[in-house]
Amino acid sequence: MLSSDIADDLTSVLYTEAEIHARIAQLARSIEADYVGEDILLVGVLKGAVMVMADLARELTLPLNMDWMAVSSYGAGTQSSGVVRILKDLDTDLSGRKVLIVEDIIDSGLTLSWLLGNLRTRGAASVEICALFRKPAAAKVEVDVRYVGFEIPNDFVVGYGLDYAERYRNLRDVAVLAPHVYS
Ligand code: 5GP
Ligand code: MG
Ligand code: MG
Repeated sequence: MLSSDIADDLTSVLYTEAEIHARIAQLARSIEADYVGEDILLVGVLKGAVMVMADLARELTLPLNMDWMAVSSYGAGTQSSGVVRILKDLDTDLSGRKVLIVEDIIDSGLTLSWLLGNLRTRGAASVEICALFRKPAAAKVEVDVRYVGFEIPNDFVVGYGLDYAERYRNLRDVAVLAPHVYS
């Protein structure tokens, strides 16, 4: 149960924890089919992708490694700046690796298109993207996302790793943040 303080900050649940887990299992089956016999490197984008990474990695039956990057694009607001900075880089040498970027959500696409470009300069054998959510209405940049969990409307959502001002990441479901919280 959520405290009434938190429940007041949310307008509606978009996807429950069970729906998210079921979809992640489907994505894992597609990934396994595409990478038969391969050893993959999952690159999680901190901090939003922590929950997706934890569930996807445990669902996958392939041999894999996990590494993490932190980049800044949003700050505390709800709008992408387009300016991306590396706050924490990978520990792994990407030479010859099959890389799968694991992201929580793609909105404008600015963060991921920058990240794709950056990782492709490091000698990886391939770089693909798995994003749990995509907001097509907001796409400013064409990004080829191989695995997408859910196409969602252009609302600001929180939970399952997704934050507003570093809060709500621990919610099990993904919910729409009430506009009174940020306006
Ligand atoms: P983009 O560069 O695609 O506009 O933004 C990507 C990043 O912005 C995501 O990885 C996520 O951290 C943040 N973001 C975009 N849309 C939302 C949203 O609806 N809710 C939350 N909590 N973060 C979002
Ligand atoms: Mg993210
Ligand atoms: Mg955030």
